[in-house]
Amino acid sequence: MSETEINLPDNFIHEIIRKDLEAGKNGGAVKTRFPPEPNGYLHIGHAKSICLNFGTAQKFGGKFNLRLDDTNPVKEDTEYVESILEDVKWLGADWEDRFFHASDYFDQMYEYAVQLIKMGKAYVCELSEDEFKEYRGTLTEPGKEPPGRKRTIEENLDLFERMRAGEFPDGSKVLRARIDMASPNIHMRDPAIYRIRHADHHNTGSKWCIYPLYDFAHCLEDAIEGITHSICTLEFEIHRPLYDWILNTLDTPCKPQQIEFARLNLTYTVMSKRKLLELVKTNLVNGWDDPRMPTICGMRRRGIPASAIRDFCETIGVTKFNSLTEIELLDHCVRDDLNKSARRAMAVMNPLKLVIDNYPEGQVEEVETVNNPEDPVAGTRKVPFTKTLYIERDDFMENPVKQFHRLAVGKEVRLRSAYFVTCTSFVKDENGEIVELHATYDPATKGGNAPDGRKVKGTIHWVSADRSLEAEVRLYDKLFTVPDLSAIPEDADWKSYLNPESLKVVKCRIEPGLAELPPSTHVQFERIGYFFSDPKDHSQEHPVFNRTVALKDSWSKIAKKGS
Ligand code: ATP
Ligand code: MG
Repeated sequence: MSETEINLPDNFIHEIIRKDLEAGKNGGAVKTRFPPEPNGYLHIGHAKSICLNFGTAQKFGGKFNLRLDDTNPVKEDTEYVESILEDVKWLGADWEDRFFHASDYFDQMYEYAVQLIKMGKAYVCELSEDEFKEYRGTLTEPGKEPPGRKRTIEENLDLFERMRAGEFPDGSKVLRARIDMASPNIHMRDPAIYRIRHADHHNTGSKWCIYPLYDFAHCLEDAIEGITHSICTLEFEIHRPLYDWILNTLDTPCKPQQIEFARLNLTYTVMSKRKLLELVKTNLVNGWDDPRMPTICGMRRRGIPASAIRDFCETIGVTKFNSLTEIELLDHCVRDDLNKSARRAMAVMNPLKLVIDNYPEGQVEEVETVNNPEDPVAGTRKVPFTKTLYIERDDFMENPVKQFHRLAVGKEVRLRSAYFVTCTSFVKDENGEIVELHATYDPATKGGNAPDGRKVKGTIHWVSADRSLEAEVRLYDKLFTVPDLSAIPEDADWKSYLNPESLKVVKCRIEPGLAELPPSTHVQFERIGYFFSDPKDHSQEHPVFNRTVALKDSWSKIAKKGS
């Protein structure tokens, strides 16, 4: 069993399962699956589905399958397959030895289709795409009987066999289930279940030139694997009668139950694979793993831990109502997680020189400081302290406002873990910009505490001017400027709402030990935010840190506003 535990609070799906178990349904088995189509990278919405399916199996001592729903050879790619495996594993959902492909079942699906034909419940149809739509009718008008509907079983068997043998071009024929052209549910009006595609498949190569369509394939995949509860998103609710019709018409080994839940939508981002692909293809982002993307690999590269994503998925819950989740809730889960685990460090984003006039020239003190106040075993480290330091420009005010507790002339503050310093003067350049501060330090306050019990209101971070290193930091922000992209005007281009400020690259000064961190290490830059040494670009010679999330938590504010 997996080491990762997902503790899903009870939801309506669990109530259904509990009742099924009480009634002795499925012989007491619970089996779920995550069935992505390998036509793109997984995103945070998929994470919700993964956590739900895996967490539900775990909760009931059941089994969880990973299955690639690879029935469309044209859009699928092994690059996507590899990324899916990596991402699901990283999230901690353990499929053990149950990794399957829908394409593994093509032979069985073909046999099921033949069975339908033999029952008089499927036929070959030659209507063009436009005619197909015309015959299908509309929401208010029933469909008309397609010409092929009256074909004999023998004829249908022969045509279907020849479709398989490659005798016909793409689009010239489909196999349709024979259900009801007058059904109020348009999906029941003799849906197409097999189509011709002369295309190589990433798994079956050139073996097939006919491929089953989603609605026919999916329920059979579930049945073949013995899935008990087939959990999917709400847009499939209207397909459920077809799901059930196929399973009830055919003699399948088991009859899985489809249950729908509301998909995850997040503010300030898009979740459609098509749109994400467009962003990648048009270079509006730097690949699928761009840290601004809502993809799992983008989030991983940004420094969002898998545990924070799981925590987020546990928190949002599972309902039947579509809604929009605030991205700040995800940020909150990330902070909560990293607060416990990320070591602290000092980095100055916007440096201003501070010269301590009474500190000996050339002296270097190794100041000891704790790595993580939230984690007693994280230990301490040494940071070099020298006469000339950098502090944040924001931590000084020429004319301090009332509540400003940081540096100003005549004010004393604590330099984190080092000394108390009092600002004495500042220097401006010819443009009137402050370029240097001067201060004196109190040697008796070593370690950042005054023996006389004297208090200061402000503690600021710092780095040594000549012992610090330069680093590149990538400050990520929201991908879009509007919270709800489904609410933009219909004629507007969604890409015009991309946030031009979503990535800012700046140079900062870091304490020297940070360069030695391996890539993919979490660190909190004190008072600034959580950062992550970039998995691809960070090195000792060229330190690169991605901002995972800023420190300020706006979620609690939003939560209060909402309550
Ligand atoms: P498409 O079908 O348009 O290519 P998709 O996002 O539905 O895109 P799938 O690979 O079919 O992609 O999704 C795999 C599973 O993840 C499905 O069961 C689907 O319902 C679920 N899923 C997809 N998007 C979300 C979401 N935003 N929230 C929750 N579950 C989702
Ligand atoms: Mg889908």
